[in-house]
Amino acid sequence: MSESRGRFEADLLVHLLGSAGDDSGCDGGFAVLAEYVERELEGANVRDLLPAVAAHLRNCPACSDDYEGLVALARGPRVN
Ligand SMILES: [Zn+2]
Repeated sequence: MSESRGRFEADLLVHLLGSAGDDSGCDGGFAVLAEYVERELEGANVRDLLPAVAAHLRNCPACSDDYEGLVALARGPRVN
């Protein structure tokens, strides 16, 4: 099959970036969390760009907390 090479590359991309509906897991989510927050604050549609991370944040309270913390940091100093 001449398609096997393209197929392999597609599988690799899915492995690296996740596909819609997949959950990146804590390690995968944490690796790109800073970029995820940065892109989101720039107005990018991060749920399309990094769907596996978006899925994981919905599923994992611990990573969701990390995400909230990064958003707060990125938005500027906390005002008491
Ligand atoms: Zn997690």
